[in-house]
Parts: sequence; structure tokens; C-alpha cells
Amino acid sequence: MKHKINIISLGCAKALVDSEILLGGLKQNQVEITNIPEDADTIVVNTCGFLDMAREESVETILQAAELKKSGNIQQLVVMGCLSERYPDELAKEIPEIDRIFGSNNHRDIVQFITGKEFSKNDPLFFRSLMTPNHYAYLKIAEGCDNGCSFCSIPLMRGLQKSRPIPAILDEAQRLAEQGVKELLIIAQDTTSYGWDLDKKVYLSDLITALDESLPESVKWMRIHYAHPAHLSQRIIDAISSTERVCNYLDIPIQHASDKILISMRRGLEIDKIRERIQRLRGANTGIALRTTLIVGYPGEAEADFNELYDFVKEIRFDRLGVFTYSEEEDTPAADLDDNVPAEVKDERKAIILDLQAEISAEKNQTFIGQTLDILVDEIGETVSVGRTEFDSPEVDQIVHIKGHVKKGEFYRVKIEDANEFELKGTLIDN
Ligand code: SF4
Repeated sequence: MKHKINIISLGCAKALVDSEILLGGLKQNQVEITNIPEDADTIVVNTCGFLDMAREESVETILQAAELKKSGNIQQLVVMGCLSERYPDELAKEIPEIDRIFGSNNHRDIVQFITGKEFSKNDPLFFRSLMTPNHYAYLKIAEGCDNGCSFCSIPLMRGLQKSRPIPAILDEAQRLAEQGVKELLIIAQDTTSYGWDLDKKVYLSDLITALDESLPESVKWMRIHYAHPAHLSQRIIDAISSTERVCNYLDIPIQHASDKILISMRRGLEIDKIRERIQRLRGANTGIALRTTLIVGYPGEAEADFNELYDFVKEIRFDRLGVFTYSEEEDTPAADLDDNVPAEVKDERKAIILDLQAEISAEKNQTFIGQTLDILVDEIGETVSVGRTEFDSPEVDQIVHIKGHVKKGEFYRVKIEDANEFELKGTLIDN
């Protein structure tokens, strides 16, 4: 056995971190890695189990790898991640080419299976090997979720919240900084409830302060994702505003704006309270960019509920926004409700919100023309390179096209000269 491994990572940033820990474990045990599935003798597919489309992509990817095994291109097929946490028996039965099925966090067991080496619980955890560009990294501060939103199967796959202690997170962040990471993207299923479950209760604000006090200046940006509005306390708002390197940005998924739907979704907060938190956030952080995600077509979403959502998006004018159409998740409370919004109505409602957001975004982007912004460069090209402002997270938000000679992973001052609904364009200013 050559032990040449190909890892295919699907799904969200939290799953990416799991793949990175596995990659680190394999490299630390001298396993050769290849990016080309056909060149491997073992393929590991890290699956996503949330939403139909993601499940289909995961199954499709496993089937492609199974074909490579059938044709003798690879010898072993390993599956891990959310889908295998949720449907291990079905996967084993339907795809017999799979050699072993692991959960999301069985890194030692997977490395043991691949290398034959024995690991005990007392061995130190593997350190991640980044799959993102070297200048940014996701920092997972907790696993699982206690919220139980009616539509969501994530707690069924990832369990209840388990926060990591602050010293372990600081240690990881420090090592990432030493490797050249300049932007840390703080993630969990619900970052704003971080620390509640620890023996000595702490808050996200304590973690922000501890990171700010311990990290070198080279980590210029810290960005917070998945801030549940129900747990966005004043102490967290204050920590965001008083910590210079926390980006003036918050990803705050609200999901809906009709009280009837929010209550049925079990989101723990009605729309007036969500509005009030957003106002407090904006009051304390002038110019903060807000990203949100919405679900349209939830069971019982009448025209009037959708209109409330539309009006709220128009009123709040989020800076970045994503919309999902509702899809029923097995064994969730919402699965007991009648999924009664026709698929074409769901799609139409999604398109209406996205059209509105495109207008809002185009208007907001125009206001940047003439301004000079700090940009972190993600990709370089011969004449034009691509970067981001502090108002944009990688992969999901806007980009800035930069004219001028720049280096990947460095910060520059760029004067914005043009804009459309999803992009800014500018020229490098001599520093
Ligand atoms: S906060 Fe709600 S939507 Fe997010 S992971 Fe937890 S249960 Fe799912």
C-alpha cells in the first residue's frame, strides 16, 4: 500500500476544519497527499448532510469514488462527516464499495485505519494543515448546537454544543498566526452562545478579548460568523466595537421576519427584538456590514408572511444576504408540518428577495466610489488581482478587483473607482 491519500471536502467551513485536522494528522504521520483522486490509493470523502442538495452532492461524490474503486484505480474508499453521522447504515448498504464510515471528529481513528499506527486518547490532537489560502483560516470555537430550530437537522448530526476552552483556542490561533494567518474567521453553529456549556461559564466577548490580548499584530482581522440574534448580548456588541481588529462585519442569520414563522421556527426571538438588536449593533458600530441568511417557503408561509419578510429586508438594508428555499429535513420538528408552499412559489419568493437585495447592494456599493479602503489580496492575476474589504468574508461575500502590482495575502490601500451590485473595482494607492 502506497498510502497516497486524496481528501474531498464538501459542505460548510466547519466541515472544512475537520478535513484540515485530518489532513494535518495524515501529514504528521508521513502519509503522502494528492489532489488528484485517480492518483490516490485511498479517497476520503468528508460529506455534508444538511439540505437535499448537499446530500445529493455528497452521495454523487461517493459514487464517483466508488467507480474508481470498481475499476481498480483506487483501493480504499473512506467516508466521514455529517452524512455518515446521520445515515451510516444506509450508506453502507447502498454503496458497498465504502470500506469504512467515520463520524466528523474521528480523526485519530481514520489516521489509524489508513496508517495502521495505534493512537490513544492521550495522544495530542493533530494540528490542522490548512486547505484555505495561507493568509486566512477558520477558527472553530465550538461543536454542535443547543438551539433546536425547527427546520434544522444539524443538532441531530453534530449533537449538543461543546465549546472549546479558551486556552485551547488561543493555542491554535497562536500557531495559525505563526504560520502566517492574517485573518481568523470565528465559526461555530452559534458563536454567540459560545462558552455557556463550559464548567466555568465564559462568553464570546471573553474569547474576543483573550484573542486580542494574545495574538501578534500580524493577525489584522478577526471576523465573526453565525451570530444567532437571540444570543447577541450587549457584552458581545461592546466587544466587537471595542476590539480594533474585529472586522466591522457580522454574520447574523435571522431566517425570517414574520413572527408567526419565527415562532414556528423556534428561533427564540420575535422581529421587534431582532430589529432592536440590529439597531444596537449599528449604534455601537457605525458602518458595520451585516450579512444574513433567510429561508423562504417554510411550512405555512402565507403571502402576508412573505411580504413581512420583504418589507424587513427593504427596511434593514442588509449588506450581504443569502436565501434558501425550505426543504424538509427528516426527524426535525418542522417535518411534522405540512410542507405546503409549492416549489415554484418558493423559487419565486427567493428570486424576489434576491432582486431586492441586488438593488440594495448596487446602491450601497456606489457609496464606496472615491473611498480608499484596506484590501486583503486573495488571488493575483497578471493585470487585475482580487481581494476583499473588511466587510467581506471569503467565498460568500463580495470581491474587489485591484489594478496594480500586489502580492497574495498582503494588505493594500485601494482607491475604489467603480462598482456594480456584487463587486468593487479600484486601483492600488502607493503606500
Ligand atoms: S442555530 Fe438553529 S439553524 Fe443554526 S445550527 Fe443551531 S439549530 Fe441549526
